[in-house]
Amino acid sequence: MTQFTDLGLSAPILKALAAEGYATPTPIQAQAIPIVLKGRDLIGLAQTGTGKTAAFALPILDRLAANRKHAGARSCRVLVLAPTRELASQIGESFRSYGRFLGLSTAVVFGGASMYKQKQALERGVDILVATPGRLLDHISQRTCRLDAVEILVLDEADHMLDMGFIHDLRRIAGLVPKHRQTLFFSATMPAPIAELAAQFLDNPERVAVAAPSATAERVDQAVIHIEQSRKQDLLHALLADKSIARALIFTRTKHGADRVVKRLQDEDFSADAIHGNKSQGQRERALDAFKKGKVRVLVATEIAARGIDVDDVSHVINYDLPNVPEQYVHRIGRTARAGAGGHAISFCAPDERAFLRDIEKLTKQAVPVQTHAMSLRTPRADERVPRALKTGGGGGRPQQNRKPYASKSNGNAASHGASHARDEGDRRDRKGREVWSNGPPSRTPRPAQRRAPR
Ligand code: AMP
Repeated sequence: MTQFTDLGLSAPILKALAAEGYATPTPIQAQAIPIVLKGRDLIGLAQTGTGKTAAFALPILDRLAANRKHAGARSCRVLVLAPTRELASQIGESFRSYGRFLGLSTAVVFGGASMYKQKQALERGVDILVATPGRLLDHISQRTCRLDAVEILVLDEADHMLDMGFIHDLRRIAGLVPKHRQTLFFSATMPAPIAELAAQFLDNPERVAVAAPSATAERVDQAVIHIEQSRKQDLLHALLADKSIARALIFTRTKHGADRVVKRLQDEDFSADAIHGNKSQGQRERALDAFKKGKVRVLVATEIAARGIDVDDVSHVINYDLPNVPEQYVHRIGRTARAGAGGHAISFCAPDERAFLRDIEKLTKQAVPVQTHAMSLRTPRADERVPRALKTGGGGGRPQQNRKPYASKSNGNAASHGASHARDEGDRRDRKGREVWSNGPPSRTPRPAQRRAPR
């Protein structure tokens, strides 16, 4: 088995890895580190949880330390782009811990936080800058950051960048970094639009791939419960009565949906919090921290806000709403199968979500076992799995909503931090900006008169 000492990393990095308690490299690290150390461009097909951050951070730190120079005022030598604040700050933390014996500087910039502090951090120039695209462009337009000294560019979670409408921002940024550079490109999936984006950024890249999405799905004990939309909340409460659901991550489609679910959980004394794009950075960090420490049992999240959440021991992922993009299902349930462990994923499927379920089963090449419950609908027959309204609408039975994540467009106002903030959320909207999905009306179940002990 490959050891970190076999990969050609320098002594201060090996010392930091020992301090982190990392014994052996993960498969993506074993494959990617030697390629990056050679200075080659790289496409990495890997998702969060595979150790991909260290796969790029370790060799980057090594290369910077081997050739020390000052980036210059308001400049950086390495630019790492990430789709969400959570992921950006986690990447920043990783660079700091892996590079703790190297004396290199790292700054992290993302929307929703003080511009002023970020400007100060950038003023003298940094070795490594980790940024979300919208806020980075804010700094560039205010001339508090420049990219002409970038030697290494990393695009992390490229599929989610596109999903969130960052494509125009990415193209602008690509035009600002030097042509002669090393580029590392990571994505959990590689559909055609991602491959096209990769082709624009990379020069004769080497490829590494680990754990195809369906492989993650295999490790998770999955179930689907067919249920009316209006009964989902009651079903959730009934399931959470089971204490074996120790730490649950619940996905809703919209921010408002997440708030509604949390409010009703709290009304019935379940310990729950929400994390989504309408929450301030402080609120998000506090909610995540409480969830990580086990102080909050249930975290309700939108798809995007949950990106980059690195929490071990999530016993259950519950899809309160099924995602309309099947790859998102695989990402979601992967949250409960960290570091090779298994986990449980329960999906609530309303009649108008059956086409989404069918797409998921097609992608993962396995049928999700149906679980029955006193509240559940009878299992639909095979010919009922796609609602009739959708069958007649063309498009091969696909739902008519704006399904393609890659079709989403930036509003062109890339330099506004409001723009990046607004995109950091789980809502789906049509071309006129109307919400195309909601969690349906809140159920009218009466509240219990007496408060119970917190669960
Ligand atoms: P990532 O895929 O980068 O989000 O990493 C997932 C988790 O694995 C993080 O908590 C890392 O700290 C951890 N990790 C990364 N590489 C290793 C390794 N070689 N050994 C043990 N843990 C690791």
